[in-house]
Amino acid sequence: MSRLSPVFSRLILLGALALAACSSKPDDRPNVLLLSLDSVRADRISATGYRPPTHPDVLTTPHIDRLAAEGVMFENAFSTTSWTLPSHMAIFTGLHDVLHGVIDKDRPLDRGLTTLPELLHENGWTTGGFFSGPYLNPVFGFGQGFDHYVNCGTVVPPELFADSKLGDWREIHRFSHETVTSPKLFGEASTWIRQAAATDQPFLAFIHWWDPHYDYKAPANYNRMFDTQYTGEWTGLRNEDVYKMVENADIDFILSLYDAELRYTDHFIGRLLDLLEELDIDDETLVIVTSDHGEEFYERTRWGHQRSLFDEVLRVPLVMRLPGSVPKGVSVAGQARIQDIYPTVAELLQLPPPRYLSGQSLVPLWNDSDHPGYAQQLHMLVPHREIELSGLRTPTEKIIWDHSAKTGSYWNLERDPLEAKPLPFTEEELEAGKHPAIAALRDYMQSIPAERERLPISGDEARIELDESMKLELEEAGYFGKD
Ligand SMILES: [Zn+2]
Repeated sequence: MSRLSPVFSRLILLGALALAACSSKPDDRPNVLLLSLDSVRADRISATGYRPPTHPDVLTTPHIDRLAAEGVMFENAFSTTSWTLPSHMAIFTGLHDVLHGVIDKDRPLDRGLTTLPELLHENGWTTGGFFSGPYLNPVFGFGQGFDHYVNCGTVVPPELFADSKLGDWREIHRFSHETVTSPKLFGEASTWIRQAAATDQPFLAFIHWWDPHYDYKAPANYNRMFDTQYTGEWTGLRNEDVYKMVENADIDFILSLYDAELRYTDHFIGRLLDLLEELDIDDETLVIVTSDHGEEFYERTRWGHQRSLFDEVLRVPLVMRLPGSVPKGVSVAGQARIQDIYPTVAELLQLPPPRYLSGQSLVPLWNDSDHPGYAQQLHMLVPHREIELSGLRTPTEKIIWDHSAKTGSYWNLERDPLEAKPLPFTEEELEAGKHPAIAALRDYMQSIPAERERLPISGDEARIELDESMKLELEEAGYFGKD
């Protein structure tokens, strides 16, 4: 038997070392910390340059800013819609809203779809989810793939669920929107992360922060942080009655309370980042901060969300940090979408995502500063307001079809970035594809049935009914008493 040449021996040695490196560190697969801040506008986080008008020296999000400085920030990230349930499902499924199908509160996720937590769980990640708003309830399918999925929000009184379906959602909202939830979220999530970090497995922790969502009621030491001058009558509670506001100072004050909620929530994000450092896992944890939608700030005499698809309710923060894999301090101009988070995480974790995703990896956007990004497919269905909208947003154009009014609106965003002067079009012009953007919208809408055919779903459109199993799920989530 001949001796191996020195070069060959060295190659074998290097190969053995490489194998040893892989096998001795099964946990070098990154952890994932996915943070969704409900109702946060990208233009209110200080990383994007925002400075509060009355207190420009006080940052709204110093800890998100730190993440952005240590990772990638997408300057043009957009939701699929303007409300919590479908947009979070887009994050979880990597599909735009009409494809995942959870477009109204009576439609659960089809179990044939593989959510991001399921993908990670199937590949060896421990998974924990912590939510604080009613639309993240597991009854909609959000619990799929989680070892541990817990409601850290308000426990809504059972009598509000007395209706035959999901009860009086307006009352549920009123009840749940006024409570401060971040301390409980942080407590539950940090305890779980400590336990998960002590095991051999990597973990996924999803945390849904509800406090930035209206109503705006931060703790006392925060809620005057951004306005110490206001002497009017308004508070951060129930601000629908904008028409009664006689002074711009009223609106400015309410928005200062939004900033306070943001700063308060950012404090807990800072504590989570400190926890990763304390556990010495900050270099091996992919941290993602985003939001499900933005918020109207009376630009069009309205407050809140779930009413339109203007940019103020669509543009969200998106920041990612993973040292060694995500570049440091890069701002990306290309258009990103919340459904792109799923395939991006899969690529960073070297996991094959399902082939049917409509989201695409964002890695090419930070590798190529000229990458334009991806067109966002928009949709919103709100039956009680008789709203159904479909649309497309590219970096330069926005186009919306109103299914109820049977009219369309087009904006050239380079000439009209505030979407102030819509160019209308008719149903006939839509069908004829009168303009390339109109044709693109028509093609998107017409492609939906064939796109849904490609999905591994039953397609039987089963609606959520308040059966015994769902009662049990709601009970576990704290929505019903145990008696
Ligand atoms: Zn929301």
